[in-house]
Amino acid sequence: MMEMPLIDRDKCQGCGLCVSVCICGGLVLTDNIVTAVEVEECHWCTLCELVCPTGAISCPFEIIIEKNQDSA
Ligand code: SF4
Ligand code: SF4
Repeated sequence: MMEMPLIDRDKCQGCGLCVSVCICGGLVLTDNIVTAVEVEECHWCTLCELVCPTGAISCPFEIIIEKNQDSA
């Protein structure tokens, strides 16, 4: 099952910003509230979380940045 962003429906104000930046079509605005629908290609870019002005979206994907061990 594809992991999708989590939407706090109480915080969503229906501005549509997340829908406009999403490239996977996984966010749908219905009756002024966004719903995340499971799609094959969520790119886990976290743009939807970044643009949301109310903090209604959280991306639970774990992003791990490895330090270059040779640069010590
Ligand atoms: S993480 Fe990126 S691709 Fe996935 S729903 Fe959000 S904006 Fe769309
Ligand atoms: S950006 Fe945030 S407030 Fe705007 S529609 Fe998306 S979830 Fe709702």
